[in-house]
Amino acid sequence: MHDYHVHTTYSDGSLLPRMVAAAEEAGLDGLGFADHCNVFGTEGARAYRNAFGFNLDLTHERRRRAIERSRDRTDLRLYDGVEMDYHPDHEGAIEDFLADAEFDYAIGSVHQIDGANVHDREHFAALSPAEREHAVETYVERVCALLDSELVDIAAHIDIVERNPALRGLLDEGHYHRIADALADSQTVPEINAGRVTREYGDFHPSEQFLETLLAEGVAFTIGSDAHEPDELLACQDRLAAVVRNEDLPIVELDV
Ligand SMILES: [Zn+2]
Ligand SMILES: [Zn+2]
Repeated sequence: MHDYHVHTTYSDGSLLPRMVAAAEEAGLDGLGFADHCNVFGTEGARAYRNAFGFNLDLTHERRRRAIERSRDRTDLRLYDGVEMDYHPDHEGAIEDFLADAEFDYAIGSVHQIDGANVHDREHFAALSPAEREHAVETYVERVCALLDSELVDIAAHIDIVERNPALRGLLDEGHYHRIADALADSQTVPEINAGRVTREYGDFHPSEQFLETLLAEGVAFTIGSDAHEPDELLACQDRLAAVVRNEDLPIVELDV
């Protein structure tokens, strides 16, 4: 199994050698480092990068040297990837950065809706039902724009709004079909993302219901634990191994 989505201290995860050791213990064949990266030119995005220390735009060459060194010490196939924040207003900056940085692959993510992080429970719980529905609508538009942009290889956690109890259940069959149609027209592959499978949410992204729509459309997937800690990587291995064994679920490896 190739896990294309883990984090290290180059964003908000654990030390890179500890993630490699966990992947070895889990018996993986490949491990991809996909640290958060944001290149939006706005003041708000700068403040966000400063606050959270998301510096891969500045440190990716240093991380590349660390990955190269780790390759000498493991039989695992290690990938130099990235999880890029996506917004349609910043496609030029994303495209220029990715062309320059030459990662093995890029994962694209929509983490913000109208300036609020999708994980922000208080923010979305304080909105009216109509405002919440509008937020989910905006989210779906952004995901479809990400897929249309062809800027990335993998689309991360395509129904991440389900993680937030205030937004859970608002994605409907119509949204599923819009995203499925955008995937059918795109080179970008979605992932089976285990980021919340062992936590409160308890399901993969995409959810079981959404998955049915996507499978009917012939969509294939990559695997991503979205682990930030070695324990998280190990905790979701059995669930991910079952996904890979499921013959009804097409899992692909990247051609990198
Ligand atoms: Zn993410
Ligand atoms: Zn992630």
